[in-house]
Amino acid sequence: YRGRPVFDPRIFLILRGEDGRVVNLTPFRADESTNLAAIAAGVKTREPQTIEHEEHVYRVVSVPYRYSEKSLTTQEKFVIKDVIAVSIVDSEVGLLNNLLLIIVGGLVAGMLVIVLAGYLLARRAMVPIEEAWNKQQQFVADASHELRSPITGIHSNAELMLRHPDHTIKEESFRLHNIMTETARMTKLIASLLTLARSDANKAELLLTPVDIGELLQVVVEHFRALEELNNTKLTVNIQPDLTTMADQERIHQLFVILLDNAFKYTPPGGEIKLSAAKLDKNIVVTVADTGCGIAAEHLPRVFDRFFRADKARSRDKGGTGLGLAIAKWIVDKHRGKIEVASEIGKGSIFTVVIPLLKIRKEG
Ligand code: ADP
Repeated sequence: YRGRPVFDPRIFLILRGEDGRVVNLTPFRADESTNLAAIAAGVKTREPQTIEHEEHVYRVVSVPYRYSEKSLTTQEKFVIKDVIAVSIVDSEVGLLNNLLLIIVGGLVAGMLVIVLAGYLLARRAMVPIEEAWNKQQQFVADASHELRSPITGIHSNAELMLRHPDHTIKEESFRLHNIMTETARMTKLIASLLTLARSDANKAELLLTPVDIGELLQVVVEHFRALEELNNTKLTVNIQPDLTTMADQERIHQLFVILLDNAFKYTPPGGEIKLSAAKLDKNIVVTVADTGCGIAAEHLPRVFDRFFRADKARSRDKGGTGLGLAIAKWIVDKHRGKIEVASEIGKGSIFTVVIPLLKIRKEG
C-alpha cells in the first residue's frame, strides 16, 4: 500500500495517566471506559501485544507521551503517561484458528490418504509378484518330485542287480532296460525343464526364418508313420500348399511333435488322428484332432499348466512329463499365436493352433 489510510475505524485510542486512569479518545464509545481501563492495565511494554479480556482478543500498542506535561494536563491533574491504541482482533484470531484447523486437518487427511493409497498400491503391486512366487515355488516342488521318481527307479534297479553279482548282463537285461527307460524319461524331463526355465528368464529368443509350415508338418508326420502301424491308429493328413511365414523352425517342429505325440498317446488302437493345415485370413491354422480318450470339461482349462495331467498314471506309462502342452503354449505365445483345445470325454480332442502369417524377410 502507498501511504497510510486516513483512519482505521477499528482502532481505539486511549490516553493513560500516570495513575492508571484512562480517557477514551473515541467519544462515541465513551461508555466503554471501564473495559478500556482493564485492557490498558495489561499493557506493560512498548512492544505490540495481544491481550485477552472477557473472552475477546485485543491487539494493543502503547506509545509514550512526548509533549510537555502542562499542555494536556486536565484540571484534575491527569498526567498522561502514554497513548494506547486498541484494536479488537477476534475475527483475525478466529480466522487464524480456522486456518490452523484446516491446515492440520488437511495434513492429517492427506497423510491418511497417502498412507492408505500407498498400502493399497503396494498390495496391488504385490499380487502378481506373489502369484509368480507361488507359481515358481509350485514349479520347483513339482520338478523335484518328478525328478525323484526316475532316480528312485534307477536306484532300486541297480540295487537289485547288485544282489546277484554272478548274473550275466543277459539275465539282468530287464533291469538294465528299466534303467535305460528311466534315464530317457529324466533326460526328456530335464530338457523340458530347461526350455521352460529359459522361457521364464526370457532368455529363449526365437530364431525367425522363413518356414513353410506345411513342409515342416510333412517332416513331422513322417516320424509318426511308424507309430501308426504300431498303435493301429490311422493318421490322415490334409495340408494346403504354400504356408510360408516367419517362424522358429525348431520350435514349431517341437510344437507339432508335442501335439501329435499326445494324440497318439491318448488315442487307443483303432482310433483316428487327423492333421490339417490351411491359410485362414492372415493366419495359418493347424488342427490336430483325435478320437482318443478326450479330456473332462473340468480339466480343460488346466491342460496347458505345467505338470498338469488329467490321468497321472496313464501319462506316466506313456512317458509323459506333464510339460508338453505348457511348452507348446509357450511356443505358440512366442509366435503371437493362439492354441486352443476342444474335447469331449470318450470321443476325442481337437487342438487348434493359429499362427499369424508374417511377411517374409530375406535373410542377411
Ligand atoms: P503329458 O506329458 O502328460 O502328455 P502334456 O502337457 O502334453 O503332458 O499334456 C497334459 C495333459 O493333457 C495330459 O496328461 C493329458 O491328460 C491331457 N492331454 C493332452 N493331450 C491330450 C489328447 N490329445 N487327448 C487326451 N488328453 C490329452
